Amino acid sequence: MTFFDMACRGCGARRVEPFLDLGDQPHCNRLIPERLAAIPEPKFPLRAGFCHDCTLVQIDHTIPKESMFSDYPYVSGTTRTLTEHFKETAARLSATFGLGPQDLVVDIGSNDGTALKAYQALGLRTLGVEPAANVATLALEAGVETLNRFFNEETAAVIRRDYGPAKLVTAAGVFFHLEELHSVCRGIQQLLAEDGVFSVQAIYLGGMVEKTAFDQIYHEHLCYYTLRSLQALLAQHGLEVFEVSVKPIHGGSLEAHIGHPGKRPVSPRVAEMLAEEARAGLGELATYQAFADRVWRLRDDLLAALHDQAARGRRVFAYSAPAKGATLLNAFGIGPDLVQCAVERAPLKFDHLIPGARIPIRDEAKTERPDAYLMLAWNFLDEFIVKERDFLRAGGEFIVPVPHVRVVGAEALAA
Ligand SMILES: [Zn+2]
Repeated sequence: MTFFDMACRGCGARRVEPFLDLGDQPHCNRLIPERLAAIPEPKFPLRAGFCHDCTLVQIDHTIPKESMFSDYPYVSGTTRTLTEHFKETAARLSATFGLGPQDLVVDIGSNDGTALKAYQALGLRTLGVEPAANVATLALEAGVETLNRFFNEETAAVIRRDYGPAKLVTAAGVFFHLEELHSVCRGIQQLLAEDGVFSVQAIYLGGMVEKTAFDQIYHEHLCYYTLRSLQALLAQHGLEVFEVSVKPIHGGSLEAHIGHPGKRPVSPRVAEMLAEEARAGLGELATYQAFADRVWRLRDDLLAALHDQAARGRRVFAYSAPAKGATLLNAFGIGPDLVQCAVERAPLKFDHLIPGARIPIRDEAKTERPDAYLMLAWNFLDEFIVKERDFLRAGGEFIVPVPHVRVVGAEALAA
């Protein structure tokens, strides 16, 4: 048995065993302008391992956070589904925890401020912490007070001094990015008011395993949590999970509510979910080895489906170019010979290449229809089937890569 040459990001033990090697991959969010296509891009190992001590699943290679998050292309306000999700979350958490007008809400990784705006609308004091200068500026312009820095113990001390303790600290979709994980946890512990709540949302590893959603693995995501591994991390810093649930967003997201120990009753749901995780084998390496086997089966099936389209003279484009699409394309060795381009609606992505795979990204509105689309954003499939019903009725097809490879045509409209 060989281990990664690293201390576990969660518990510090040196028993993190690799189970999935997705090859050397470029930073998946760094789209390449077409005029720079001749310049090779740096690539880094993308491998996942399992800690035999605390069960945390993690990747071993860290791209320094400064190079990844100082200029970030993902702006949350652009996705309507997410905006709605933030509104719903703000209303629900404010009601559940009885937040009032003088209470402070701090959002870690606040992006363009979309999530905090939902709290502002409810009359709360808000503060964002966002390391990417370009999106922090957008938040400030939108009237959301934002500190342009990384959240850690030092930042927490500054906030506590200048704004007072926080009744609610939120971190949606960023907790697995955090390189300074332990400093972040200490910071949260110190920033929270006596009865304050830390609400975290992270990709749920249980959902990833269930759906074989290996394309959630990319360099930005250093850790992949179960309730058990999250609890083990937080316990080291005197924090207690008192409520937990799994939300459908992003194809399975863990939401945990955390506080100072003994300050709030621990929901029976916590013990139930730990038991479910044990039954699903999420604390055992063999489960992740089986997951890896399924990933390579997906590769074989997907390549067969793409070669079949090519043999029949059908053109295949990718439908949108999400970050996770790059993981899949690069891990499976899919390039422009099999998928000629990707169509997008986000103007920032036009006339760029998908990293590694070097597939050009085109304006959806100005690009003719192919015979089939590779559905990289497979978690939005139902939405796309409705939106593209005319395409499907005219003989177009969607090639869906995950959770298992299938080709969807007009028959899906009946369902
Ligand atoms: Zn560990």
